[in-house]
Amino acid sequence: MDGVHSLISTGLNASIKMYTIAKVYAEGLNAQPRAQTFCIEGTIVIDKANSVTYLGCAMPHCNRKVHDSDIGTNMHYLCPTCKQSFMMPMPKYCICFQIVSGNDHKWATAFNTASTALLGVPVATMMDIFADNNMYKPVHSYNLQQAMYGKYLMTIQGSTCNTSFWKGHRSWIVTEFLKVGHSHDNVREEEEQDEGPDVEEGGEDEVMA
Ligand SMILES: [Zn+2]
Repeated sequence: MDGVHSLISTGLNASIKMYTIAKVYAEGLNAQPRAQTFCIEGTIVIDKANSVTYLGCAMPHCNRKVHDSDIGTNMHYLCPTCKQSFMMPMPKYCICFQIVSGNDHKWATAFNTASTALLGVPVATMMDIFADNNMYKPVHSYNLQQAMYGKYLMTIQGSTCNTSFWKGHRSWIVTEFLKVGHSHDNVREEEEQDEGPDVEEGGEDEVMA
C-alpha cells in the first residue's frame, strides 16, 4: 500500500484519483457514455476461455478487429475506426477478467497495449515463437496464470453504453497495469493489521517515557 501511495504522491498518475469499486458506482463515475478515468488497486481473476488473440488494425492504439470487407481494391486494409490504411493486420490481445478490490469485484477488459505490459510478451512475438497453436495455447495460458499472482494499480476508463444491444452496460477498460505487489500480500496485510495496535501502543509508551 505504501508503494502505491508514494507513487501517486510523487506525481505518477497524479491527475488520476484512487477509488474503490463502490465509490466509482456511488459517484456515478462509470455512468456516462463518455469514459472517465480512475485508479483502483486490486488483484485480477482472468477468464482464460474469453482471453483471446485476434487479428486487428495495424495501428498500435486502435483495437478494431479486421474483417475481409475492410480490404479495399488496392489490397490494403482500410480501418473504419481510425481511417488508417495498412497491408498486414496485427495479432493483438484482448483479456477478460474480474478486478477484485476489497470485498468487491467488477468485470473488465484490457486490450493489446495494457495486456502486453501485463503479460510481458508482445502477442506478435508469441505468434512467431509458438507458430504451432498447440504450443502457443499452453504458454499463453501459463502467462495468464502468472499475471493472476500480481497485485496492481490499474488505470481504468469506465463508461456506460447508451445505445444498441449493450445499452446500460458498464464498460471498464484497463489502460494501464502498474504492478505493486503480489496477490498474497492481502493476507499479510490483514495479519499485520491484527498485530498493529500492540506495536503502536509499545511505540507510544517509549516516546512518553
Ligand atoms: Zn484502426
